[in-house]
This record gives sequence, C-alpha cells and structure tokens, in this order.
Amino acid sequence: MLEDKIRLEMSDWLYNSGLVGLYNILKESEDDVLAKEHYIEFSLLSLNDFEEKYFNYFINKYKKSLSWYKITSYEDLIEHYEENDFKDFDEDSLKRLNDYIKDTVKYYLKSNSYKAAYDLIDSDMDILSLEKKLSIIKIKKNESIEDIIPQVKDIFEILKLVIDYCKSENGRKYLAGKNVIYTIIRNAWDGICFLNPQTKEKDMYIDYKNYFVNPVEEYTSLDKSKLKYNCFVCNREMKDFKNDLSFLKETGFDVSRKSSHVWDFNNDVAICSICKLVYSCVPAGIAYVFNKGLYINDNSSMRNAIRINNKVKDEILKEHEIKSSLTYRALVNSIQEQFNDKVKYELADIQVVRFEDEKYRFNILSRKSLQVINDSRNDLNKLIKCGFKEVNTYFNIYDLVIDSLLNNQNLFILIHKLLVYKLSIPKNCKFNTSHVVRMLNINFRFLKGVGYMEKLEKYIIREGNESGRSLKKNYRDKKAENKLNGIAYRLLNALKTNNKDMFMDTILNCYLYVQKEVPAIFLSAMRDDSAFKTIGYAFVTGLIEGKEDKNMEGINNEK
Ligand SMILES: [Zn+2]
Repeated sequence: MLEDKIRLEMSDWLYNSGLVGLYNILKESEDDVLAKEHYIEFSLLSLNDFEEKYFNYFINKYKKSLSWYKITSYEDLIEHYEENDFKDFDEDSLKRLNDYIKDTVKYYLKSNSYKAAYDLIDSDMDILSLEKKLSIIKIKKNESIEDIIPQVKDIFEILKLVIDYCKSENGRKYLAGKNVIYTIIRNAWDGICFLNPQTKEKDMYIDYKNYFVNPVEEYTSLDKSKLKYNCFVCNREMKDFKNDLSFLKETGFDVSRKSSHVWDFNNDVAICSICKLVYSCVPAGIAYVFNKGLYINDNSSMRNAIRINNKVKDEILKEHEIKSSLTYRALVNSIQEQFNDKVKYELADIQVVRFEDEKYRFNILSRKSLQVINDSRNDLNKLIKCGFKEVNTYFNIYDLVIDSLLNNQNLFILIHKLLVYKLSIPKNCKFNTSHVVRMLNINFRFLKGVGYMEKLEKYIIREGNESGRSLKKNYRDKKAENKLNGIAYRLLNALKTNNKDMFMDTILNCYLYVQKEVPAIFLSAMRDDSAFKTIGYAFVTGLIEGKEDKNMEGINNEK
C-alpha cells in the first residue's frame, strides 16, 4: 500500500531536533509541511529532490560563515574599485587584497575538500592553474600606489574568473556543499554516507539520496503485513535491524562501543528508514556557531519547538556576523522575545541542550532563572563586553553569569573572584566595580524569595555600596588610603568563609579609626547568610571602587 503522506510524531529531544530540521528544510524549499500539536506532516512528493533541498537549507542559512562566501563576496569590492576607476584604492585596499589572495583564495582553492569538488563541478576551467597565477602584490621602494594599479587590474581579471567559477550553479552546489558538510552537518553525525571517508559515491548529493532518501521511498511501498520487527523510535514495522543510531554524535547510542553493559542495550536499538532520514536532519534543527551548538528542548508542541529554535538560530547568526561567539546572548534574546509573547506562550522550565567539545550538555532553565534573566535585562546588557583574563584565557562575564543561572547557582563565587582580581591584578580586569553592582542586582533577584531575603529590598545593595564608598572617602581624608587594600582582603576572606564575627570586627575597627558611627545596614547583614554576603560584597565593592566608576549613580537609581 502506498502512503501519500508521512506523519512524524514527537519523541525525545534529539529526534525532535531532527523534526525541526526536516521541517526547516521543507519550508526553505517552499514545500507544504504542517506542524501540528505533536507531529509534522508532509507529502511523500516532498522527497523528490530532497537531497538538493537538504544542502540548500544549510548553504542558505549558514552562507555568510562559509569559506565559499569569503571567496565570492569579494566581487562587490572588485566592482566598487572598477566603477570609480580605482580612485580610492589605497594601501589599506592593497593589504586587504593581499590578505584575501593569500589567506582566502589560495588557501581554500588548494585545500583537499575543494580539490574533491572540482571533478564534480565539471567545468572546462582549470581552477588550480588559475590559483597558481595569483600572487600578492608588493610596492617597491620607488613605487607609489598608482604604479601598481595595472597589476591590481590584472589580478582582478583572474579573480573574476575564480569567483565566476565558484558562483556558477555547480560551483555553489559542490563547493558550498562541501563547506556545510564539514562546518555544520558533521557536528551532528559522522562516519557514514558522504561523511564516510571510504564512500564509493563521490557526489555527495547522490550519496545522500541513495543512503537516506531512496530507502524511505522503498519502505513506503513495502507490504507492511509481512514485517516482523518494530522501529525503536516510531514503532513502525520494519524488515531488519540494519539501521542503528551509531552515526549520531555522542548520544550514548554508540553500538561500536560495547565495553560497558550500558551500551549492550543499544545493540537492539534499530530504527526504520524514515527515522534515519529524520536523524540526518538533526543538524538543520540545532543552531551552530563555530563548533558549538544550541538547541532548546521545548516539547510542549511542535510549533513551539520550531519557533524558539529558529529564533535562537536567527539570533546566533546575527551575532556571528558581528564577530561575537556568545551563543548565550542568542539564547537570552530568544527567551526575552518569548516573554513578550507570553499570552501565546505558556512559560515553563525549559531544557537547554548545548553541543560543545563534540559532546552534548544538558541544563534545565527553570521558570525562576528565566524570570531572573528577563527581569535583569538592563543589568545583563551592561555586562556583554565585560571580562577578565585568567592565566592565558579570557572569560566573558556575561557568559559566566548566564552559565551560573543555567546551573541554578548564585553569583557569590564569581563576584568574589572578580573583586579579588580587581584588587590583585587590575590590569587583567576588563570591568569596573559598577559591573559588580550589576551582578549583585542580578544575584539579588535570584536569591529573592528564599528565607530572610524575602523581607529585604534591593536598596540594601545601594546602601552597602554607598557605605563602602563613604568609608573610602573618610580614609582618603585621613591620608590612610593605603590601608584599604588590606581591609578589603580581610573582609573578602570573612565573606568567603561566611565568618560574620571576623567581618564585623574589621568593620567596627574601621569605623572606630575614622570616628564614625557604624551604618545600620550591617544589622540586616547579621540576620541571614545571603543578606550578609549581599551587603558585604556591596560594601567591599564600594570600598575598592576606582576613579573610573562614575556610572554608579545611574544604576542605583534604576529599579
Ligand atoms: Zn521509525
């Protein structure tokens, strides 16, 4: 019996990411595909030329990150210089041209994955001999930039041939196609079909069709009544145990690893041809930047899963263009949009799946963390460019804050570390103390509602901070500023070890020294550990504040 429609029901997160991917691929090629509550449905006819649709999706979506695009997009510059007769072609333009020739064109044209595509492109152009004709242009001692323009014009003529070749229908199909295999698709699966180094079919489009698409068409025309087995995922009848999940990256379904009894179970895991096709679409569901991926496992409905993940992908690709690697910002922006859409979208805990270092990592973003992230948008936005250097690694504070919230951890450890760095190695700190106050604000929202914190308001941060600042002024007036570092260290130590007595002793001595009354805010600090740390860190932040922190007033007046 011939099915003319295929309906695929939602399952675990990885399968769902494949469904999102399959949906995206069909949508991109303007096929009819329905996303209902818990399934997607499309016509079998949509599988015609599916291999073209598959590659097209990746090429279109990730276009600007591809080396193919780096080569071809130079065309605009060539046109620009030619149109205004090289009037603004200066030394910077030459440097850019030379970098482009050396690091982009020559580098990629000679790479193995490009070489493997030339036969498939089937053109009369000998691209490798063109590559040999390209070389960088140097200005000799007695030459000016005008003198080398004829050389630039010659090089442009060769470059135009190269670019035309790459932009031709087959050039795009196979060069950009190779690009997406290695930069995107391989993040999700590997080892089979066009990712099998020993594959016999050199044309990856035909390879994909033979491997993933044809078996679905064969399967749908089979007489199911004679089939003895059932698919592990969708329960459809199937003929044999030929298809397993071992081609997927690090999911735990690796049948080649039989070492532990855990894996034995997976030897019985076999899937039907339809599910195999779905899993091949996983890379079109997850959003990637560099070798990192992000997927939001929202299984409340197919439509929600598609919507939030495409939002994440759009945000990530936007970030990528401005050369930022912050996948978290994409996540946060998507979440905040979701908040604005609250009426249509019931907010629940969401599972965040990250792909990093070739593995999947899972976090639950609780309703509470989501709320904190949303309420903290002003504070968070100020942290985007903040960071610090530790040994030889640069850490972004925004990412670390989101990471803590994802892990349901408060920010005290991070705040402590930043204050210690600010005191000991300020040159490695790309943040000022106003940013620490921002973090205390975020942390306050995170802690709010637990124990004694429920009774407190955010003004305790401002009061703690202002007390620190005025004590600093008092010390400065007494020309005793040099004592403040030692005091700050002692206070930080007391905060870290949660030693209220040590903290209060130090505070009392300080106020005795400047002959001032101890501010009342410290009474609140004694009532509860979280309050103690919040007020204590705000105080130390005020105490070590540098001259650069003029924007404190602004924050303290915000809600
Ligand atoms: Zn199945």
